[in-house]
Amino acid sequence: MCLLRGGRAPPPSLQLQLCSFLPTPTKKLGVSLWDNVHARRLQEWLLAPKAELTLANCSLSPGSVAPLDMPLLEGSVGVEDLVLLEPLVKESLLKNLQLRYENKEIYTYIGNVVISVNPYQQLPIYGPEYIAKYQDHTFYELKPHIYALANMAYQSLRDRDRDQCILITGESGSGKTEASKLVMSYVAAVCGKGEQVNSVKEQLLQSNPVLEAFGNAKTIRNNNSSRFKGRMSDVKETYQPRVMLAMGTELEGSLGISQALRMFSNYLPDLLEKSRVVKQLKGERNFHIFYQLLAGADAQLLKALKLERDTTGYAYLNQEVPRVDGMDDASSFSAVQSAMAVIGFSEEEIRQVLEVTALVLKLGNVMVADEFQANGIPASGICDGRGVQEIGEMVGLSSEELERALCSRTMETAKEKVVTALNVIQVGIGEKKKVMGVLDIYGFEILEDNSFEQFVINYCNEKLQQVFIEMTLKEEQEEYKREGIPWTKVDYFDNGIICNLIEQNQRGILAMLDEECLRPGVVSDSTFLAKLNKLFSKHSHYESKVTQNAQHQYDHTMGLSCFRICHYAGKVTYNVTSFIDKNNDLLFRDLSQAMWKAQHPLLRSLFPEGNPKQASLKRPRTAGAQFKSSVAILMKNLYSKNPNYIRCIKPNEHQQQGQFSSDLVATQAQYLGLLENVRVRRAGYAHRQGYGPFLERYRLLSRSTWPRWNGGDREGVEKVLGELSISSGELAFGKTKIFIRSPKTLFYLEEQRRLR
Ligand code: ATP
Ligand code: MG
Repeated sequence: MCLLRGGRAPPPSLQLQLCSFLPTPTKKLGVSLWDNVHARRLQEWLLAPKAELTLANCSLSPGSVAPLDMPLLEGSVGVEDLVLLEPLVKESLLKNLQLRYENKEIYTYIGNVVISVNPYQQLPIYGPEYIAKYQDHTFYELKPHIYALANMAYQSLRDRDRDQCILITGESGSGKTEASKLVMSYVAAVCGKGEQVNSVKEQLLQSNPVLEAFGNAKTIRNNNSSRFKGRMSDVKETYQPRVMLAMGTELEGSLGISQALRMFSNYLPDLLEKSRVVKQLKGERNFHIFYQLLAGADAQLLKALKLERDTTGYAYLNQEVPRVDGMDDASSFSAVQSAMAVIGFSEEEIRQVLEVTALVLKLGNVMVADEFQANGIPASGICDGRGVQEIGEMVGLSSEELERALCSRTMETAKEKVVTALNVIQVGIGEKKKVMGVLDIYGFEILEDNSFEQFVINYCNEKLQQVFIEMTLKEEQEEYKREGIPWTKVDYFDNGIICNLIEQNQRGILAMLDEECLRPGVVSDSTFLAKLNKLFSKHSHYESKVTQNAQHQYDHTMGLSCFRICHYAGKVTYNVTSFIDKNNDLLFRDLSQAMWKAQHPLLRSLFPEGNPKQASLKRPRTAGAQFKSSVAILMKNLYSKNPNYIRCIKPNEHQQQGQFSSDLVATQAQYLGLLENVRVRRAGYAHRQGYGPFLERYRLLSRSTWPRWNGGDREGVEKVLGELSISSGELAFGKTKIFIRSPKTLFYLEEQRRLR
């Protein structure tokens, strides 16, 4: 016990335990406590007279030791895993996150879920040195980190043959995109070597600047906000199993290993914030690419695209904020150009993408989108004949044809397609085998005025919560039941009822919206609302002014044109104004037909529905219906994989380092269901594995099972664990699997393996 100084020595049995849960002398107390039993025993001992413990820069003596029910040991940086929090209440959870944040410990675990609080500063905890460290350690050995989660997911993909998905959620500015980049750079760094692999890795990493140029913009909340609201990147890998030598040494490197990565990114198609192309809020910008192009294109390119360098000449570019602090549009442009080349665009394709980008800017100048009229249809007219001619020349259309096509509600289509062009990013090599999906998705959103966009994004989050509940909580409980292991029931809220309210076929809110959009006769947002009010007046998660009146409750904050949904994360009031219009999202046929006639291959390919041969009289699907099926596909995808979670938290509204607003974090902790998450983790077992694979992995630890074992798998596992004298409370033998309570025991097993 070299770390203990002064006072009385701890009893021998506790010394042993202390040694085993303080892996390195520099680790701070409270960081290394693996479970409550150990923590309590240590505290009990410390409370006894004269005991004193000095650990690194944390000094504890009887007087300074917190009472037994205090969650945090004084001088510590809080617990690394909220599972160790005592008492488990909202306040202690927040305090713990704050304490850690103030000590620049931005990552905290709940079991294998990573909570990440945006530091708004570059911390020296990333890069090759850290990647190498995390690659060499199991999940709980080092400080909490996204690398630890990436490593666990990657190893599970490789060793346990399970497709993985990393779900990254949180509100705007909480650090989702940065987290997803950390995961991808980790995987790229550890996934193998070789020329082919390197080139694909390069493509994986280079996809980011391109995606961000076309999909990100400065908003009030985040200077680099992803405006496509969901992005899924799949990292695929093919390989042959690692070679295992006698005595369990694993040969790293290239022996028999052929690895390859395959990456593609796709957007949840209808989640793109289309309206940003034509209009931005005060203090916000259009998508980065427009500014990058003007700032970074050389004179020759500008001339070829018939553009002026000065942003003031373009109606679609908010004149108020042409520049963003810390962002260099010109150099980003050259980065985007070379990144596009790396990910496989030909020179000709790059030119065409830039032409379409320029085209959008020029269209903005020829269109005069007047105020929206009462019926929601904009009155548009052409005010710049020369501009039309120029565009016509660029795309190979006559001015008359172009003008005819443009004089309707066209702008929204043009901007959407700029981003659709990015779907070209599809790089593939090697045989598809295993998949790791990284999902960076917009979190739950409650604005002052919530509309259709918030409704669909919150619906998506409600579904993600359902995945979380089903896969983490329900599955956990059901598995214990299946395996015949005793389980103390944890109550949790099943949000299936809210999902149904929104998405149920023929009966849900989305179905009602579609029905109203398709119904002949006079339809309006208010007829839609009336329908909802009638149908859901008794629903426990639906409220409106009308249903409130019926129940003699009055809420003056809710307008007559609103309905409210009690989401799992809280109540949200939606204003139905323009729901019908946004759901219709009509692409006028004359426009797509004109674009299809353009002599511009990329533009043409973006409007396949304009092909008269493919023209269908069928009405295009509504935005809501498309969204619902995207969400269904996403859910199917997630259910087929092993989920890993990163929960991102924004510490303050000012993009400032060092500021921790407890109220703001408390709200997010509630949306993310962190407390509930901890409760379930605490009740359960940290690890479980089928007897067969478990025995295969650890049988070298016992003389009875190594090198040969002829008995059954379960008996073999009993032998191995019996010989290691692991306490019986740590283990539960299920029908087909072994369950291990604390991560520490797993860590111990891995350590033993390494020592053999
Ligand atoms: P949105 O939903 O608007 O896209 P987001 O959750 O993706 O937001 P990010 O763009 O990832 O948020 O993060 C916002 C900013 O916060 C980043 O541009 C960066 O400045 C800072 N940031 C986030 N994570 C980190 C980190 N781990 N280290 C340093 N800075 C970070
Ligand atoms: Mg983002």
